Amino acid sequence: MKLNLPSPVQEIHRPLYLEKGLRVFVKRDDLIHPLISGNKWRKLKYILSKAQSESKTHLVTFGGAYSNHLLACAAAANYSGLQCTGIVRGEHVKNEVLDKCSSLGMHLKFVDRERYRDKHQVFKDLFGKDNQAYFIDEGGASQEAVLGCEEIVTELNATYDHIVCAAGTGSTAAGILAAIKKKQLKTHLHVIPVLKDGTFLKQAIENYITSDAPLQLHQNYHFGGYAKYNDQLLGFIIDFYHQHQILLDQVYTAKLVFGLDDLIRSDFFKPGEHLLWIHTGGKTGLLGIREKITARAPEFRKILEEIL
Ligand SMILES: *Cc1c(COP(=O)(O)O)cnc(C)c1O
Repeated sequence: MKLNLPSPVQEIHRPLYLEKGLRVFVKRDDLIHPLISGNKWRKLKYILSKAQSESKTHLVTFGGAYSNHLLACAAAANYSGLQCTGIVRGEHVKNEVLDKCSSLGMHLKFVDRERYRDKHQVFKDLFGKDNQAYFIDEGGASQEAVLGCEEIVTELNATYDHIVCAAGTGSTAAGILAAIKKKQLKTHLHVIPVLKDGTFLKQAIENYITSDAPLQLHQNYHFGGYAKYNDQLLGFIIDFYHQHQILLDQVYTAKLVFGLDDLIRSDFFKPGEHLLWIHTGGKTGLLGIREKITARAPEFRKILEEIL
């Protein structure tokens, strides 16, 4: 498996940043691998080595119908010669992400929302007798994932006043925070929850890691909830691509960069500071809104065709 590591850091030039006297950089984890998007590689790295050290040959994991994690797992299992089952939330559906998972050898099993809630029970029911099977939680959330995400920071060659990332489960943020602590950096971590009422994330992050490193949640950029978006966010994705040739997804990274711009506009940061945001990948999410986005920007047809 060919991975582009350490992932590159690049500076983003926007008139707003210049006006506010800030320098803004992005860590391009989205370039790590075409199918194992961004932080999903970070999260899987030590999960895979743990599974292999326990001689497990069958990865079993969970996700929604457009899950970046399911696709990442399918690809990682394929390259590692492991069997893989993806348990998909909800009724049977077909889409290009799930088709790609299947073509990589993942067995798909659809489970209704009610039953899906208790993942450990589903695992036990289906694979309780298979001692080769290894449980991987939705999104890869785990202590191993946190360990892998520390490398986002340990790979850096420069220091930043602020690091900004999006959060779903918070394991990526926890890894970043853990590394800030270990390296005794003065960096502040800013987390943009992508779901409504992300208050639980502070606790979730602190459950993984105890740290007095500064951590701040910015809760105004969820756009109505997980996977929710509006025309303004779509427009932002399209404009950002035209300005910087960097693709953002509506579920995670567009909310992050939109929120960052908003904080900058309201003078949240001090002139002269250096900021780094983490591009955690996720461009396959755009396939779920193909019609909407190409209706507004026909030139995206070709870009979306090249994603999978
Ligand atoms: C899964 C995912 C996240 C969220 O990571 P957590 O560790 O669950 O907070 C962020 N960005 C992208 C693109 C993702 O796919």
